[in-house]
Amino acid sequence: MTQTEQAPEVQDTPLVPIDKVVALSKRRGFVYPNSEIYGGVAGIYDFGPLGVEFRNNIRRYWWWSMVQNHDNVVGIEGATITHPRVWEASGHVENFVDRLVDCKKCKRRFRIDHLAPENVEQNKCPNCGGELTEPRTFNLLMETYLGVVEGDRMKTYLRGEACQNIYLDYDNVLKSSRMQIPFGICQIGKAYRNEVTPGNFLFRQREFEQWDLQFFVHPNEMQKWFDYWKEFRFEWYKSIINHKDRLHFREHGPDELAHYAKQAYDIEYRTVLGWQEWEGIHWRQDWDLSRHSQYSGQDLSYTDPETKERYIPWIVETSGGVDRTFLNLLLDAYEEEPDPNGKEPRTVLRLHPMLAPVKVAVFPLQKNKEELTSTAKGIHKRLQRMMVSQYDEIGAIGRRYRRQDEIGTPYCVTVDFQTLEDQTVTVRERDKMTQERIAIDALPAYLLERVAWQ
Ligand code: ATP
Repeated sequence: MTQTEQAPEVQDTPLVPIDKVVALSKRRGFVYPNSEIYGGVAGIYDFGPLGVEFRNNIRRYWWWSMVQNHDNVVGIEGATITHPRVWEASGHVENFVDRLVDCKKCKRRFRIDHLAPENVEQNKCPNCGGELTEPRTFNLLMETYLGVVEGDRMKTYLRGEACQNIYLDYDNVLKSSRMQIPFGICQIGKAYRNEVTPGNFLFRQREFEQWDLQFFVHPNEMQKWFDYWKEFRFEWYKSIINHKDRLHFREHGPDELAHYAKQAYDIEYRTVLGWQEWEGIHWRQDWDLSRHSQYSGQDLSYTDPETKERYIPWIVETSGGVDRTFLNLLLDAYEEEPDPNGKEPRTVLRLHPMLAPVKVAVFPLQKNKEELTSTAKGIHKRLQRMMVSQYDEIGAIGRRYRRQDEIGTPYCVTVDFQTLEDQTVTVRERDKMTQERIAIDALPAYLLERVAWQ
């Protein structure tokens, strides 16, 4: 899909309660609570068979747009454990803290920066009006230890944000690839935070995945590239959602900006949780490379090969979450359509076809007719080499459609008696529920054109 082509517009529908997607995710194998048989762990989740497919598609589409489609961007994959000094240089050991208060009455816990100003001023719980405790400060970094001998073990941290590896590998990338400034490094990877208020399903987890671009520029070109990536990322998100009016930029006010940042924007999406950050676009100036130069003693300055000018590159950062994308896309796509005959509503996930976990399902009209089942299995096998396909012969055809609608499968192919005569099948489309007759031989190209990114 190109950046200008967008998912089809759908009619505005009410905001979807998180519980609906939590239930669907468990029922159909998208997401499970981690260690559930032991009672679970707050803010940690596992991904099931459909969740893995969906997640991989989301990641691959990001990688395709950011790395494969930009000649001046390359990728890395860093380890989740680094030298502990990294987190001193980055400021996380000192400053990666949340201040929180507890309600003395209902015992709920809040991050002070998430409370309305009047609640902070009046020291009043937004849930029950009870009195709040004095604020306490917590560092979010998760500690771990390297080494086996007690007393000789080195304390370090699971990375609190994935992007640090990019600064650590910046010099190696520069020396081992043919990149010259301006260029970018991308990474998708896990991050760990001892969030004090984990919750809202995948929205705030303790183990989650981030995608980052760090784009290195000459200071004179900072504004140009900041504007480029800001627009590019906004259009990217817009192209994969149905409810375009639920996406906007929020510019950071002067008191939110880091001292080195001239500007910062959040791309926000509106759900039942209100407008919430999906991705941050940050003006990082020379902060990160300067700090790592200073703490490591390694010179991370750049010498322009033509002008010989020497400088610390400035950085434009775009930093978003794979899990938040996963959740927002489910909330954006979930719909319960009333049944005209008053039966159970039709649950449909209107996911963009290229991101849907299953691309096509193949059904024989009847399961007790060998010619139908063997033809359908043959088509399924052929399609399976190119995309995720499911074969299903169980139950009435209407129920099979419903099962696929609920997981967002964009196309269902049915083999019927006409197939045996003229080698054509019906292709039923999820959103409009239209049916088309297509020759079996034309099916792979017909589907690929609609489900692959191009
Ligand atoms: P917040 O203020 O909400 O804690 P943040 O500003 O600290 O978030 P960043 O450090 O900028 O977030 O992280 C970049 C992206 O990573 C966020 O835009 C979000 O999509 C994702 N993200 C951050 N924290 C979490 C989390 N605990 N669970 C899931 N995704 C997260």
